Amino acid sequence: MADLTLTKVRKTYGKMEVIRGVDLNIKDGELVVFVGPSGCGKSTLLRMIAGLEDITNGDISIDSSSMNDVRPSERGVAMVFQTYALYPHMTVKKNMAFGLKQQRISKTEIERRVLEVAKTLQIEEYLDRLPKNLSGGQRQRVAIGRAIVREPKVFLFDEPLSNLDAALRVQTRLEIAKLHERLGTTMVYVTHDQVEAMTLADKIVVLRDGAIEQVGTPRELYNNPANEFVAGFIGSPKMNFLKATGDGQGAKLLAGGNLLTDKEGDLRIGIRPEALKISNQKYLFKATLEAIEYLGESTYLHLKTKSNEPLILKSDEDAQLSTGQEFGISLNSESFHVFGG
Ligand code: ADP
Ligand code: MG
Repeated sequence: MADLTLTKVRKTYGKMEVIRGVDLNIKDGELVVFVGPSGCGKSTLLRMIAGLEDITNGDISIDSSSMNDVRPSERGVAMVFQTYALYPHMTVKKNMAFGLKQQRISKTEIERRVLEVAKTLQIEEYLDRLPKNLSGGQRQRVAIGRAIVREPKVFLFDEPLSNLDAALRVQTRLEIAKLHERLGTTMVYVTHDQVEAMTLADKIVVLRDGAIEQVGTPRELYNNPANEFVAGFIGSPKMNFLKATGDGQGAKLLAGGNLLTDKEGDLRIGIRPEALKISNQKYLFKATLEAIEYLGESTYLHLKTKSNEPLILKSDEDAQLSTGQEFGISLNSESFHVFGG
């Protein structure tokens, strides 16, 4: 069991408050992803859970016991960093065994754990190598292995894939997902990459300026973003936002056309790129095609409305279109989000 609870957690550096009261419950076995722009406090929060950073206020508990005065090594957590932080003069095997030796675990038990984990991560054949003779991906697997052999109650990952190239990032992401499936251990994973968050998480925590904007499953955040920030952060390409004015019965888009909503005042209408389509008979408004990005399975059309608002439309059809043309644009379904008002 490893439930993790954060209660009114705050952190200040001098006069600057970087974590502004975070309340969060992570259930045993969950893989929770902290996501948010650079500088929003993800690493600070994770380091406070690990005990590498004091908390200014509030409480962090694992299985209902407060960790505030518990030393990092006694918390039952293991952390994997963006930079692998392996000891350069030690072989892979020694790197993996190091933490266990300090815990005075028997030699045979250390041997058994290191071998077993090395097998799972497919690094058996590198056990006698030094880190400098490994690729980035292999080093990161050693760093993950070093965390696993400690058999922690909670794994903490801080942007572990950032230093890997794109293909390796996807592969290692999958390996982490499988690892979580197999071990069933509580994991907290930090990333600024919303695709990583969407693909890995049981639950996503969206952070901004040291506070939580929304907590939910990837589907909940995608379909029901609580605000414009979350709406714009989750999803790629980003959600489109169009200006509109609401009168209580409907919203009149600055670009043209009306949508049903009971909100009033200055509104922003959020529409995902895949919810838009070209339809020259019946349309909401017209827009001019400025650029085409062909990706094979889909095409991104970059458009500009008459109100000079940029718009991305994701199309599955490989239509022969040319830039400079004007098209009618309508919604695929009534899926739009209303913000403001
Ligand atoms: P993230 O991991 O989301 O990119 P961090 O948690 O590293 O963000 O940082 C959050 C904020 O705290 C940033 O504004 C950063 O400059 C600040 N910060 C982090 N560590 C320190 C420190 N030791 N002293 C002062 N400010 C810090
Ligand atoms: Mg960070």
